[in-house]
Amino acid sequence: MSGENKKRRYHTPPGRMLKGIQVRLDPTPRQMGLLASHAGAARFVYNMAYSHIISQLHGLVRVNGDGKADWSMPALRRWWNEWKHELAPWWAENSKEAYTSGLQALSDAFSNYFKSRNGQRKGERVGWPRRKTKHHSIPKFTYTTGSFGLIDGDMCALRLPRIGRVHCFENLHKLVQPADKILALSVRQKHGKWYATLRVETDQPKPVSTLHGSIGIDLNCGDNILTTSDGLVVANPKYYQKTARKLARAQHCLARKKPGSKRRERQVRKVSRLQEKIACQRSNLRHKITHMLATTYKHIGIEDLNVKGMTRRPQPKENPDNPNHYLPNNAKAKSGLNKSILDVGFGEIRRQLEYKCHTSGAILHVIDRWYPSSKTCSGCGMVKTKLSLNQRTFICDSCGLILPRDLNAAININHIGSTPMLNARGETHETGSLTPVSEPVPSKHPTVYREGNAYRATRIRCKTRSHPSKNKTPGVLVSSQQKQTN
Ligand SMILES: [Zn+2]
Repeated sequence: MSGENKKRRYHTPPGRMLKGIQVRLDPTPRQMGLLASHAGAARFVYNMAYSHIISQLHGLVRVNGDGKADWSMPALRRWWNEWKHELAPWWAENSKEAYTSGLQALSDAFSNYFKSRNGQRKGERVGWPRRKTKHHSIPKFTYTTGSFGLIDGDMCALRLPRIGRVHCFENLHKLVQPADKILALSVRQKHGKWYATLRVETDQPKPVSTLHGSIGIDLNCGDNILTTSDGLVVANPKYYQKTARKLARAQHCLARKKPGSKRRERQVRKVSRLQEKIACQRSNLRHKITHMLATTYKHIGIEDLNVKGMTRRPQPKENPDNPNHYLPNNAKAKSGLNKSILDVGFGEIRRQLEYKCHTSGAILHVIDRWYPSSKTCSGCGMVKTKLSLNQRTFICDSCGLILPRDLNAAININHIGSTPMLNARGETHETGSLTPVSEPVPSKHPTVYREGNAYRATRIRCKTRSHPSKNKTPGVLVSSQQKQTN
């Protein structure tokens, strides 16, 4: 097999970084048609080139050179330029960038598959590329060359070749600085709305100078999203559960609509709107939490959670007395737990902390996933052999410390911060305990959590939680420290 693409990685100059800026577009009905046409062209050429490569692999088409199937970008581009008049006589209606992005997607898909199979690509195993269908693929295309981008003197608009000036909902001249270099512009449709994403090379932001102290974060999925070592508790608004009934009803309604009908189309939009609502609410809260953490603390400790393993379905339990019959395995309860774990979005919180720490100058310490943060006593270091999930209070048998379970775990994560110490770029940074860097934890809490002392945590809520209908303003997060000073 050939077609191994050379790494087309962009090398950012020192002191600069790449940034993505997403804005919602406000196209006119005519422009909507053109956008859909471009996205359709990208999909068409992807599918055509896919068939071409499959025929090469099956030996149905003569391949030049060494006789191996070739999915490299130059080969695909050559093939398309030779056949475009025959396959798509209408090709000139769309920008050539639409076809290029379709071919690029296919070339990447094949090269990722083979790299993943040969162990040259990290991460989860990549599957065999599949054709794109009109109704089950995301309409998108990318401009990398040509006169796309901002328009001088026009604050809220983008220039898209072949489509023209497209109005957008945000002031781009505030988001993109004059010294920034726009490398690419991708357009995609999400929940029936069109978005443009600019890939921008920009100056590294200056580190936040007010960072101080260290914090450990214990992620939860029940009534709270997270607990920090200095007593901050973020309540879980359970966005998915709140809309779940409505969503289920809408999806049930959708299942009864005739395929291809107008009513089905309308119902698809309704379901999509509900899903968009949940996604936006989740994303909003996560951004607020991670921004507050990354711009307040110098050292942040989090656990390296195996979310995929945690949300796995339980194994079926076969009845030993009655083969081919199964015993209850608590699948329903596990499925509920999985949903709430995924609703919080542990992985996304970690991803956002990584890049936000990188820009703010904070150091993120990822604690080994096997470290028993919940079972260890934060007072004397004694490790319990067993601690069931429903035991929400940690009681130490050796020193008598009584603490809420999550707070105890968060304090431990703050204390340990050692194995392995990774910063936001995945490099090992420092060794040793985190605590000497900041104030010692007990001094922040004059009420040392011994028996008899009440646990005082500041519970922050999104305002939308208490008044979902009345309050339209987004909730503001207040850290416990800020509250104390107020
Ligand atoms: Zn103890």
